[in-house]
Parts: sequence; C-alpha cells; structure tokens
Amino acid sequence: MPIVRLAELIDQETAVAFLRGVVARGRFGNAYLFHGPAGVGKGTAALAFARALLCEHGAGAHPKAPGLFDAPGLFDTAEPAAVEPAPSVPPDDACGVCTACLKTATLQHPDLKFLFPISAGEEKSDDTLAETLEAFREDPLFVFEYEKFASIRLSQTRELLREMGYQPFEAARRVVVVRDADRMREDQYSALLKAIEEPGASTVWVLTTSRLSRLPATIRSRCQRVRFAPLPEQTVREFLETRAEVESEEAHLLAALTSGSLSRALTLREANPRALRDQALALLEPALRHDAGAMWKAAQAFMNYGRTGRETLRRMIEFHELWLRDLLRVRYGAPREMLANRDKEAELKRQAQTVDATEVRRRLMVLEEALASIEGNVTADLTLFSAMARVAGSRVGEGEWPAHAAARSDY
Ligand SMILES: [Zn+2]
Repeated sequence: MPIVRLAELIDQETAVAFLRGVVARGRFGNAYLFHGPAGVGKGTAALAFARALLCEHGAGAHPKAPGLFDAPGLFDTAEPAAVEPAPSVPPDDACGVCTACLKTATLQHPDLKFLFPISAGEEKSDDTLAETLEAFREDPLFVFEYEKFASIRLSQTRELLREMGYQPFEAARRVVVVRDADRMREDQYSALLKAIEEPGASTVWVLTTSRLSRLPATIRSRCQRVRFAPLPEQTVREFLETRAEVESEEAHLLAALTSGSLSRALTLREANPRALRDQALALLEPALRHDAGAMWKAAQAFMNYGRTGRETLRRMIEFHELWLRDLLRVRYGAPREMLANRDKEAELKRQAQTVDATEVRRRLMVLEEALASIEGNVTADLTLFSAMARVAGSRVGEGEWPAHAAARSDY
C-alpha cells in the first residue's frame, strides 16, 4: 500500500481539512492523536500527514537560510540544490513527486519512523516486523490484524529512542507514526511521554488508536486530538467494488455488515461472507421448529466447543440483525437496491408476509441484548442458545433446557 497524499484520503472531510490546515500554516504540535473506530483510515491518514510534513516543497523544507544547506549533502549528492516549488504544488499537502515524497511513498524516508503492534514474541519480532512491512508495501489492500495481546515491541521503541538523540537525517524534522498506540507497556508510555514533552523537539508524533480510553490520560492530554468518523456505507461499498473487485451483491452485504469499517470489510471479504451469512441464518431453523435438542446441538457446533471466538459470534448475530432490517425494508416496500441481502430478495419477501414489524423489532431487541451479553461473562453457547430461542419466540428457554453438564465442563 503506497503512502498516499492527504488529498487522496477517502471521506473524513473534517479530519483531513484540519490536517491540511496544519500543514498549510507550517506550525506543528509535538504530538497528534488520531482516534475513532477501527478501520476508517486513521493509519492511512497518519502516514499521509507524515508525508506532507516531510515533503521538500512544503512543510519538510529546511527553514534555514539558503546556502547553508544548498551544498550537496552526504545523503543527497544527486539532488539539485534549492528546489523551486512548482506552481502546482499544494501548500497544504505533499507534492507527491519530490525525492522525499518518493521515499515516504514506500516508507523508505530515514526521518519517517513507523511503529505498529505485532503478535510474535520478542525473539521473532525482527522477522515478523520485516514481513509485515513487506506485506504492507506490496498489498494495496493490506489490513493490519492483531491477536488479542499483540503489542508494540520494546526493541522497536528502544531503537527509536536511541535515534532520537540525533538530528533528523534529511528533513527539517522527524515524524514518528505509532499505529494502535494503545498497545504499549507502562514503561514505553513513560518514555513516549518524555519524548513528547521535550521542548523544542524536532520530532512530530502521530499516534492512532481505536481504543482511546486505553491510552494513559497523561498521553491523551498532551496530544492534539483528531477525530475520525465511521465511513458511510456507500463509501465502503464503492471501495470494495472498484478497488477490491468485490462483486456488487457481496459488496452490499459487507458494507452493511461492517458498519463503516473498511478494514473489517476487507478482512471479511476473504471469508466468503454469503456462506457465513447462510450458516448464521441456519442456526435459527431448529428454534423455529421448537426443537430444543437440535438447537443446543447447533449452538454447540457453531461455538465449536469454545473455540469459536466472540468476534465470530458477534458477526453471526449481526448477520441476523441485517436480515431483520431487510425484512422491515421489504415490508415497507423498499426497492431491491436498498437491501443488504439483495441476493435473497425472494426469501425476504416470503418471510415478510409471515412476521409483522412489531415482531421484527422484538427480535432485533433480543439480538441487541445478546450482543451486549457477549461482552459480559455469559458463556457464548448459552447466549447463542437463548438468543435463537427468544428470536423464534420459543418457550424452550423456560424449564426445557437440555442436559449439558458434561459438555459445559469442556470449557
Ligand atoms: Zn514532495
């Protein structure tokens, strides 16, 4: 994924306008914190902002008197001295064509540091970092995915802090982008805080997080915050169709399912979303037959005896919610284009004749409660079992629970 320019970012008008203003004014804070939901472009924007800060034609130009830096330097012998900005160079963005911009495009500018969490242990971290970076450079649709306990490596921060003792190599300043900055340890935060607070520092920090409350208050309070919003469904859909070659019906389903998170949609697109949807909807069948035994079996099979993660369970419930919203739309005569499950229009129409809007809303509330209880300590298969029973209006939840003591101890 080449690093883009601010002008190329998708949506996020408010955040981008603010960042372009910062670049145009040429006055920078020590640290910025990009926050908002996961997968809406914070990481891409952070790198684009860094690129604008390092561009030779704008913010990255040395403010020193001409002459001092015009002589070919150690690192740029082939460069003509004092590059005159072309008239078309935007004052509030990277130019995209200067030497610095070419280097930042592929993350090879010595004054651009990029930190991100990885899942591997410390001993394997060098390989994993290199592989992740390579995949990031090569794949235009690369998505950072983390395990639960993935973190930013200590060795990475140590090396960075060591380098910060020196002046920037080529640009007027150094830019450090820290992706998912909430994944650090206490001592890393102390070091980070010290670096951010250093007066007259020649480093601009750009942190991103989708879990703002997990960042220490001391860090939050010292950064200028830039808020990112969920992407409109249409934006996600268009991106999937035009850039990720996702077929239209699937793009509709994915965009509706992932509520404005492009990275989530991109990750899910490889998992055959329509098959997942069908699998999720099939779970309701035994409940509609009021067959408690079959329901329990289906719930346990879906949870794979505790191996199915909460994320999968959440997605399964979200598929049901999408289906129910489509039922409402069909009942109110919405056109096919408005349906998330447009490939199942006939089935939706059939079902819409058997349930009324009140019943659909009741089911949606049951599912909302199930989503909330996933966050709690309720056992996942119990959540699933009772949610399906209640959606189906089944009474099996009350006094008809199948015996399952042996299976419960498997967890
Ligand atoms: Zn440039």
